[in-house]
Amino acid sequence: MCACFGVYIHPEELDEIWIDEASSAGIGLVAFHPAGGENTADSFERFLHLTEEPGFQSLMEKMRQKGILAETAAHALSWLLPREEFEAHPDWFRMDETGNRVKAFNCCPSSLAAMAYLEDRAAALVGKIPADGHRYHLWTDDVAVGACSCERCKGLTPADQSLLLTHAILRGLRKADPEAKLSFLAYHGTMELPGVMPEEGVYLEYAPMDREYDKPLTDPDSEKNRKQWAPVSALLERFGKEDATVLDYWYDNSLQSGWKKPPVKLKLEQAVMEQDVRDDLSAGFAYITTFACYLGADYRALYPELPDLAALTKAADSMMKKAE
Ligand SMILES: [Zn+2]
Repeated sequence: MCACFGVYIHPEELDEIWIDEASSAGIGLVAFHPAGGENTADSFERFLHLTEEPGFQSLMEKMRQKGILAETAAHALSWLLPREEFEAHPDWFRMDETGNRVKAFNCCPSSLAAMAYLEDRAAALVGKIPADGHRYHLWTDDVAVGACSCERCKGLTPADQSLLLTHAILRGLRKADPEAKLSFLAYHGTMELPGVMPEEGVYLEYAPMDREYDKPLTDPDSEKNRKQWAPVSALLERFGKEDATVLDYWYDNSLQSGWKKPPVKLKLEQAVMEQDVRDDLSAGFAYITTFACYLGADYRALYPELPDLAALTKAADSMMKKAE
């Protein structure tokens, strides 16, 4: 049994202490997650500037020296297809349920011109964002449902549409990085098996945000959690287990803080996490990861110590002992 443990943090929260904490906890992956929400294109642009700064580059160098992979995980669709293009090309964008083209969120996956634009923008990102192991996470916009209802798209589910966008972005990445792999994000409205078949190079990234956080995902008494867990085995079968990634919320202090600073003190549901990790490993996920935003220097200034990150990796130990 082999799994990589990872944390997704806001890029500006990375510092030497974070790296040391992650390293001593046995974390093998740090993914930089520019803030989601409504202004994802701006926060992605800020991240691109940050990656050029010598201070950030030397922190990444330190991470890699400690054997920690650096990746990028962002709701990038509105950066890949800037909303400013709406005036000139409304047909590239999403049609809402009332039949109007709207610039908010995502785009029309049936528009070949929009897909070609996405490809070019994605190709231009290669080499500019950390993607160790050629693993990319460039997701659709951060919205529960942002599907297109045009004549050509209306027969496609939100998961189908998201996968088609994933394919376009992956085609672009592979022009510049032939080994690129890109995740399909199963999350809120896309948490279902797509009818469209995934192309080679797409892997599953499962983010069960619509869950109860104080109960394990497999808790029979939680209807919400049952619903989130139900598609997992079919998704893993369809997308394969290699690179399959769980992205959970055990250490997500931005969520617990209501995405507003100052950060609250993180409440870690350790027993829930331990059960979840065992279930994730049994299901066959290769990467066990969690958001861990709002645990940077401002958190440490308020609360004397970081929550125990090693609890994440230790959650697997008991299971491995059992298997021996
Ligand atoms: Zn459409």
